[in-house]
Amino acid sequence: MENQLNEAPCGYLSLNTKGMILSVNDTFLQWIQYNREELIGQHIETFLTNANRFLFHSHIYPAIQMDEEVYEVYMSLQSKKGQPIPIIFNAKISRYEKEETIECTVIPIRKRIQYENEIREINKKLEEAYLEKQEALSRLEIALQESADKTIKLVELNEELDKVASTDSLTGLTNRRGFLEAYDHQISLYTQTERSFSLFLLDIDHFKLVNDTWGHLVGDQFLRDLAKILMNVARKQDTVCRYGGEEFVVLLPETDTEEARILAEKWRDAVETADWDIKAVTISIGIATFQTEDNQNTLLAKADAALYYSKQNGRNRVTHAKDIQVPSLGES
Ligand code: GH3
Ligand code: MG
Ligand code: MG
Repeated sequence: MENQLNEAPCGYLSLNTKGMILSVNDTFLQWIQYNREELIGQHIETFLTNANRFLFHSHIYPAIQMDEEVYEVYMSLQSKKGQPIPIIFNAKISRYEKEETIECTVIPIRKRIQYENEIREINKKLEEAYLEKQEALSRLEIALQESADKTIKLVELNEELDKVASTDSLTGLTNRRGFLEAYDHQISLYTQTERSFSLFLLDIDHFKLVNDTWGHLVGDQFLRDLAKILMNVARKQDTVCRYGGEEFVVLLPETDTEEARILAEKWRDAVETADWDIKAVTISIGIATFQTEDNQNTLLAKADAALYYSKQNGRNRVTHAKDIQVPSLGES
Protein backbone atom coordinates (compact mmCIF):
# COMPACT_ATOMS: atom_id res chain seq x y z
CA MET A 1 0.00 0.00 0.00
CA GLU A 2 1.28 3.39 -0.90
CA ASN A 3 2.54 5.60 1.94
CA GLN A 4 0.05 8.34 1.13
CA LEU A 5 -2.90 5.96 1.46
CA ASN A 6 -1.36 4.37 4.55
CA GLU A 7 -1.26 7.74 6.34
CA ALA A 8 -4.41 9.27 4.81
CA PRO A 9 -6.63 11.08 7.39
CA CYS A 10 -9.30 8.40 6.98
CA GLY A 11 -9.37 4.67 7.56
CA TYR A 12 -9.11 2.54 4.46
CA LEU A 13 -9.95 -1.17 4.07
CA SER A 14 -10.43 -3.48 1.17
CA LEU A 15 -12.60 -6.56 1.51
CA ASN A 16 -13.25 -9.51 -0.74
CA THR A 17 -16.85 -10.10 -1.83
CA LYS A 18 -17.40 -12.25 1.25
CA GLY A 19 -16.43 -9.40 3.60
CA MET A 20 -12.96 -10.74 4.52
CA ILE A 21 -10.33 -8.04 5.07
CA LEU A 22 -7.71 -8.03 2.33
CA SER A 23 -5.80 -4.90 3.22
CA VAL A 24 -6.00 -2.07 5.73
CA ASN A 25 -4.13 1.25 6.14
CA ASP A 26 -2.10 2.39 9.16
CA THR A 27 -4.59 5.10 10.12
CA PHE A 28 -7.34 2.50 10.57
CA LEU A 29 -5.01 0.23 12.56
CA GLN A 30 -4.16 3.09 14.93
CA TRP A 31 -7.82 3.79 15.59
CA ILE A 32 -8.85 0.22 16.13
CA GLN A 33 -5.64 -0.75 17.97
CA TYR A 34 -5.11 -4.08 16.17
CA ASN A 35 -1.99 -5.23 14.28
CA ARG A 36 -2.29 -5.69 10.58
CA GLU A 37 -1.73 -9.49 10.99
CA GLU A 38 -4.66 -9.72 13.43
CA LEU A 39 -7.03 -8.14 10.87
CA ILE A 40 -6.05 -9.54 7.52
CA GLY A 41 -8.19 -12.51 6.60
CA GLN A 42 -10.75 -11.72 9.34
CA HIS A 43 -14.35 -10.91 8.47
CA ILE A 44 -15.13 -7.24 8.96
CA GLU A 45 -18.04 -8.14 11.25
CA THR A 46 -15.48 -9.28 13.84
CA PHE A 47 -14.80 -5.58 14.58
CA LEU A 48 -18.40 -4.43 14.76
CA THR A 49 -20.71 -4.23 17.76
CA ASN A 50 -23.56 -6.75 17.78
CA ALA A 51 -26.15 -4.23 16.64
CA ASN A 52 -23.88 -3.10 13.81
CA ARG A 53 -23.22 -6.64 12.71
CA PHE A 54 -26.91 -6.96 12.08
CA LEU A 55 -26.91 -3.61 10.26
CA PHE A 56 -24.02 -4.70 8.09
CA HIS A 57 -25.71 -7.96 7.22
CA SER A 58 -29.21 -6.72 6.62
CA HIS A 59 -28.51 -3.36 4.99
CA ILE A 60 -24.92 -2.59 3.98
CA TYR A 61 -23.99 -5.87 2.40
CA PRO A 62 -27.18 -6.21 0.29
CA ALA A 63 -26.86 -2.53 -0.72
CA ILE A 64 -23.31 -3.09 -1.94
CA GLN A 65 -24.44 -6.16 -3.88
CA MET A 66 -27.29 -4.25 -5.49
CA ASP A 67 -25.90 -0.76 -6.09
CA GLU A 68 -22.23 -1.60 -5.91
CA GLU A 69 -21.77 1.20 -3.38
CA VAL A 70 -23.03 2.65 -0.08
CA TYR A 71 -22.34 6.11 1.34
CA GLU A 72 -22.67 7.81 4.69
CA VAL A 73 -23.69 4.84 6.81
CA TYR A 74 -23.47 5.72 10.48
CA MET A 75 -22.21 2.78 12.51
CA SER A 76 -19.85 1.77 15.31
CA LEU A 77 -16.65 -0.27 15.26
CA GLN A 78 -15.25 -1.89 18.33
CA SER A 79 -11.59 -1.31 19.24
CA LYS A 80 -9.44 -4.13 20.54
CA LYS A 81 -10.09 -2.80 24.07
CA GLY A 82 -13.85 -3.03 23.44
CA GLN A 83 -14.34 0.75 23.04
CA PRO A 84 -16.95 1.83 20.48
CA ILE A 85 -15.66 4.01 17.65
CA PRO A 86 -18.53 5.83 15.92
CA ILE A 87 -17.82 6.20 12.20
CA ILE A 88 -19.20 7.11 8.79
CA PHE A 89 -18.75 4.20 6.43
CA ASN A 90 -18.50 4.41 2.63
CA ALA A 91 -17.93 1.38 0.38
CA LYS A 92 -17.70 0.73 -3.33
CA ILE A 93 -17.06 -2.36 -5.45
CA SER A 94 -13.98 -2.11 -7.60
CA ARG A 95 -12.81 -4.48 -10.30
CA TYR A 96 -9.10 -4.45 -10.73
CA GLU A 97 -7.62 -7.02 -13.07
CA LYS A 98 -11.03 -8.79 -13.07
CA GLU A 99 -10.85 -9.37 -9.34
CA GLU A 100 -13.82 -7.94 -7.45
CA THR A 101 -13.01 -6.18 -4.18
CA ILE A 102 -14.91 -3.86 -1.86
CA GLU A 103 -13.02 -0.62 -1.15
CA CYS A 104 -14.07 1.02 2.10
CA THR A 105 -13.32 4.31 3.81
CA VAL A 106 -14.00 4.95 7.46
CA ILE A 107 -14.24 8.45 9.03
CA PRO A 108 -14.54 8.72 12.79
CA ILE A 109 -17.27 11.04 14.05
CA ARG A 110 -16.30 11.32 17.71
CA LYS A 111 -16.35 15.13 17.58
CA ARG A 112 -19.74 15.21 15.96
CA ILE A 113 -21.16 12.90 18.61
CA GLN A 114 -19.48 14.96 21.30
CA TYR A 115 -21.14 18.09 19.84
CA GLU A 116 -24.45 16.32 19.60
CA ASN A 117 -24.17 15.31 23.24
CA GLU A 118 -23.26 18.85 24.22
CA ILE A 119 -26.22 20.23 22.27
CA ARG A 120 -28.48 17.61 23.89
CA GLU A 121 -27.14 18.66 27.32
CA ILE A 122 -27.74 22.36 26.55
CA ASN A 123 -31.26 21.58 25.32
CA LYS A 124 -31.95 19.64 28.49
CA LYS A 125 -30.77 22.57 30.60
CA LEU A 126 -32.88 24.97 28.53
CA GLU A 127 -35.88 22.75 29.03
CA GLU A 128 -35.26 22.59 32.78
CA ALA A 129 -34.85 26.38 32.95
CA TYR A 130 -38.07 26.80 30.94
CA LEU A 131 -39.95 24.46 33.29
CA GLU A 132 -38.55 26.30 36.31
CA LYS A 133 -39.66 29.60 34.79
CA GLN A 134 -43.14 28.19 34.13
CA GLU A 135 -43.37 26.94 37.71
CA ALA A 136 -42.21 30.30 39.06
CA LEU A 137 -44.78 32.02 36.85
CA SER A 138 -47.61 29.81 38.02
CA ARG A 139 -46.51 30.34 41.64
CA LEU A 140 -46.56 34.08 40.95
CA GLU A 141 -50.01 33.78 39.39
CA ILE A 142 -51.31 31.92 42.44
CA ALA A 143 -49.79 34.53 44.76
CA LEU A 144 -51.34 37.35 42.70
CA GLN A 145 -54.72 35.61 42.73
CA GLU A 146 -54.49 35.12 46.50
CA SER A 147 -53.63 38.77 46.94
CA ALA A 148 -56.56 39.82 44.70
CA ASP A 149 -58.92 37.51 46.66
CA LYS A 150 -57.70 38.99 49.95
CA THR A 151 -58.16 42.52 48.64
CA ILE A 152 -61.75 41.68 47.65
CA LYS A 153 -62.37 40.14 51.09
CA LEU A 154 -60.89 43.22 52.76
CA VAL A 155 -63.12 45.53 50.69
CA GLU A 156 -66.15 43.37 51.59
CA LEU A 157 -65.12 43.38 55.25
CA ASN A 158 -64.72 47.16 55.21
CA GLU A 159 -68.14 47.53 53.60
CA GLU A 160 -69.57 45.22 56.24
CA LEU A 161 -67.87 47.21 59.04
CA ASP A 162 -69.10 50.44 57.52
CA LYS A 163 -72.62 49.05 57.44
CA VAL A 164 -72.41 47.86 61.05
CA ALA A 165 -71.00 51.23 62.13
CA SER A 166 -73.93 53.00 60.45
CA THR A 167 -76.68 50.69 61.69
CA ASP A 168 -78.74 50.91 64.86
CA SER A 169 -78.48 47.55 66.63
CA LEU A 170 -81.95 47.61 68.19
CA THR A 171 -84.03 48.43 65.13
CA GLY A 172 -81.71 47.72 62.17
CA LEU A 173 -82.37 51.26 60.90
CA THR A 174 -79.57 53.66 59.94
CA ASN A 175 -78.10 55.22 63.09
CA ARG A 176 -77.18 58.84 63.78
CA ARG A 177 -73.73 58.42 62.17
CA GLY A 178 -75.29 57.00 59.00
CA PHE A 179 -77.88 59.74 59.00
CA LEU A 180 -75.26 62.51 59.19
CA GLU A 181 -73.43 61.04 56.19
CA ALA A 182 -76.64 60.82 54.13
CA TYR A 183 -77.65 64.31 55.32
CA ASP A 184 -74.33 65.85 54.21
CA HIS A 185 -74.66 64.11 50.86
CA GLN A 186 -78.20 65.44 50.43
CA ILE A 187 -77.08 69.02 51.20
CA SER A 188 -74.18 68.85 48.75
CA LEU A 189 -76.59 67.48 46.11
CA TYR A 190 -78.83 70.46 46.77
CA THR A 191 -75.98 72.91 46.16
CA GLN A 192 -75.34 71.23 42.79
CA THR A 193 -78.91 70.68 41.58
CA GLU A 194 -81.07 72.99 43.79
CA ARG A 195 -83.51 70.14 44.04
CA SER A 196 -85.50 70.52 47.23
CA PHE A 197 -85.49 67.83 49.88
CA SER A 198 -87.35 67.46 53.16
CA LEU A 199 -86.74 66.03 56.57
CA PHE A 200 -89.08 64.52 59.21
CA LEU A 201 -88.36 64.50 62.91
CA LEU A 202 -90.64 61.93 64.39
CA ASP A 203 -91.28 61.09 68.05
CA ILE A 204 -93.48 58.51 69.78
CA ASP A 205 -96.28 60.03 71.83
CA HIS A 206 -96.27 59.23 75.53
CA PHE A 207 -93.70 56.51 75.10
CA LYS A 208 -92.63 56.80 78.70
CA LEU A 209 -96.02 55.36 79.59
CA VAL A 210 -95.27 52.22 77.56
CA ASN A 211 -92.01 51.70 79.42
CA ASP A 212 -93.57 52.47 82.77
CA THR A 213 -96.48 50.10 82.19
CA TRP A 214 -94.89 47.10 80.43
CA GLY A 215 -91.22 47.57 81.12
CA HIS A 216 -88.24 48.50 79.07
CA LEU A 217 -88.02 45.23 77.09
CA VAL A 218 -91.56 45.61 75.80
CA GLY A 219 -90.71 49.24 75.09
CA ASP A 220 -87.82 47.98 72.93
CA GLN A 221 -90.21 45.69 71.03
CA PHE A 222 -92.43 48.74 70.34
CA LEU A 223 -89.41 50.52 68.89
CA ARG A 224 -88.64 47.53 66.64
CA ASP A 225 -92.27 47.26 65.49
CA LEU A 226 -92.39 50.97 64.78
CA ALA A 227 -89.16 50.69 62.72
CA LYS A 228 -90.86 48.01 60.58
CA ILE A 229 -93.93 50.18 59.99
CA LEU A 230 -91.75 53.14 59.05
CA MET A 231 -89.70 51.03 56.61
CA ASN A 232 -92.90 49.77 54.98
CA VAL A 233 -94.28 53.22 54.41
CA ALA A 234 -90.94 54.69 53.28
CA ARG A 235 -90.18 55.10 49.58
CA LYS A 236 -87.09 53.51 48.10
CA GLN A 237 -85.18 56.79 48.07
CA ASP A 238 -86.00 57.74 51.70
CA THR A 239 -83.51 57.16 54.54
CA VAL A 240 -85.13 56.22 57.84
CA CYS A 241 -82.87 56.66 60.88
CA ARG A 242 -83.13 56.19 64.60
CA TYR A 243 -81.87 59.53 65.78
CA GLY A 244 -81.76 58.52 69.44
CA GLY A 245 -84.13 57.13 72.13
CA GLU A 246 -87.62 57.06 70.73
CA GLU A 247 -86.93 59.77 68.17
CA PHE A 248 -86.51 59.14 64.44
CA VAL A 249 -85.39 61.25 61.52
CA VAL A 250 -86.25 60.67 57.87
CA LEU A 251 -84.52 62.12 54.80
CA LEU A 252 -86.82 62.58 51.81
CA PRO A 253 -84.87 63.39 48.62
CA GLU A 254 -86.51 65.47 45.89
CA THR A 255 -89.51 66.21 48.10
CA ASP A 256 -90.95 69.71 48.32
CA THR A 257 -93.12 71.20 51.08
CA GLU A 258 -96.46 69.99 49.70
CA GLU A 259 -95.30 66.51 48.96
CA ALA A 260 -93.65 66.29 52.40
CA ARG A 261 -96.92 67.27 54.11
CA ILE A 262 -98.85 64.56 52.26
CA LEU A 263 -96.20 61.94 52.97
CA ALA A 264 -95.95 62.85 56.68
CA GLU A 265 -99.70 62.49 57.03
CA LYS A 266 -99.45 59.08 55.40
CA TRP A 267 -96.69 58.05 57.84
CA ARG A 268 -98.62 59.30 60.86
CA ASP A 269 -101.72 57.43 59.72
CA ALA A 270 -99.76 54.24 59.05
CA VAL A 271 -98.54 54.20 62.68
CA GLU A 272 -101.92 55.05 64.17
CA THR A 273 -103.76 52.37 62.21
CA ALA A 274 -101.08 49.68 62.45
CA ASP A 275 -101.91 46.35 64.02
CA TRP A 276 -100.14 46.82 67.37
CA ASP A 277 -99.96 43.80 69.70
CA ILE A 278 -100.32 45.38 73.14
CA LYS A 279 -101.34 48.96 72.70
CA ALA A 280 -101.68 51.26 69.72
CA VAL A 281 -99.19 54.11 69.71
CA THR A 282 -99.13 57.31 67.76
CA ILE A 283 -96.38 59.57 66.57
CA SER A 284 -95.94 63.29 66.13
CA ILE A 285 -93.99 64.65 63.17
CA GLY A 286 -92.15 67.90 62.50
CA ILE A 287 -91.27 68.63 58.86
CA ALA A 288 -88.74 71.01 57.36
CA THR A 289 -87.92 71.52 53.68
CA PHE A 290 -84.45 72.71 52.70
CA GLN A 291 -84.24 76.30 51.45
CA THR A 292 -81.30 78.15 49.92
CA GLU A 293 -80.54 79.91 53.20
CA ASP A 294 -80.53 76.66 55.21
CA ASN A 295 -77.66 74.59 56.50
CA GLN A 296 -77.33 71.34 58.43
CA ASN A 297 -78.26 72.90 61.77
CA THR A 298 -81.07 75.25 60.71
CA LEU A 299 -83.03 72.52 58.92
CA LEU A 300 -82.92 70.21 61.95
CA ALA A 301 -83.82 73.10 64.26
CA LYS A 302 -86.84 73.94 62.05
CA ALA A 303 -88.01 70.31 62.08
CA ASP A 304 -87.52 70.19 65.86
CA ALA A 305 -89.59 73.32 66.33
CA ALA A 306 -92.31 71.84 64.10
CA LEU A 307 -92.24 68.61 66.12
CA TYR A 308 -92.55 70.61 69.34
CA TYR A 309 -95.54 72.38 67.83
CA SER A 310 -97.16 69.00 67.02
CA LYS A 311 -96.60 67.85 70.61
CA GLN A 312 -97.94 71.08 72.03
CA ASN A 313 -101.02 70.93 69.86
CA GLY A 314 -102.36 67.54 70.79
CA ARG A 315 -99.78 65.04 69.47
CA ASN A 316 -100.57 62.43 66.77
CA ARG A 317 -100.24 65.23 64.26
CA VAL A 318 -98.04 66.65 61.54
CA THR A 319 -96.60 70.19 61.39
CA HIS A 320 -94.50 71.79 58.67
CA ALA A 321 -91.99 74.38 59.90
CA LYS A 322 -93.28 76.66 57.16
CA ASP A 323 -96.64 76.89 58.95
CA ILE A 324 -95.26 78.15 62.25
CA GLN A 325 -92.98 80.81 63.61
CA VAL A 326 -89.61 79.09 63.96
CA PRO A 327 -87.30 80.73 66.48
CA SER A 328 -83.90 81.41 64.88
CA LEU A 329 -80.93 79.40 66.17
CA GLY A 330 -79.84 80.47 69.58
CA GLU A 331 -83.31 81.61 70.64
CA SER A 332 -85.25 79.48 73.09
P1 GH3 B 1 -93.90 62.74 74.43
O1 GH3 B 1 -95.17 62.39 73.80
O2 GH3 B 1 -93.81 64.12 74.93
O3 GH3 B 1 -92.77 62.42 73.52
O4 GH3 B 1 -93.80 61.79 75.69
P2 GH3 B 1 -92.76 60.66 75.93
O5 GH3 B 1 -93.18 59.89 77.10
O6 GH3 B 1 -92.63 59.85 74.70
O7 GH3 B 1 -91.46 61.47 76.10
P3 GH3 B 1 -90.33 61.44 77.16
O8 GH3 B 1 -89.16 62.17 76.54
O9 GH3 B 1 -90.85 61.90 78.48
O10 GH3 B 1 -89.96 59.94 77.32
C1 GH3 B 1 -89.28 59.24 76.31
C2 GH3 B 1 -89.06 57.85 76.82
O11 GH3 B 1 -88.45 57.02 75.86
C3 GH3 B 1 -88.19 57.81 78.02
C4 GH3 B 1 -87.30 56.60 77.83
O12 GH3 B 1 -87.48 55.68 78.81
C5 GH3 B 1 -87.80 56.01 76.52
N1 GH3 B 1 -86.74 55.49 75.78
C6 GH3 B 1 -85.75 56.18 75.15
N2 GH3 B 1 -84.93 55.30 74.55
C7 GH3 B 1 -85.43 54.06 74.77
C8 GH3 B 1 -85.02 52.73 74.39
O13 GH3 B 1 -84.02 52.53 73.74
N3 GH3 B 1 -85.79 51.70 74.80
C9 GH3 B 1 -86.91 51.88 75.54
N4 GH3 B 1 -87.63 50.85 75.90
N5 GH3 B 1 -87.29 53.10 75.92
C10 GH3 B 1 -86.58 54.18 75.54
MG1 MG C 1 -91.92 60.77 72.92
MG1 MG D 1 -88.69 62.07 72.87
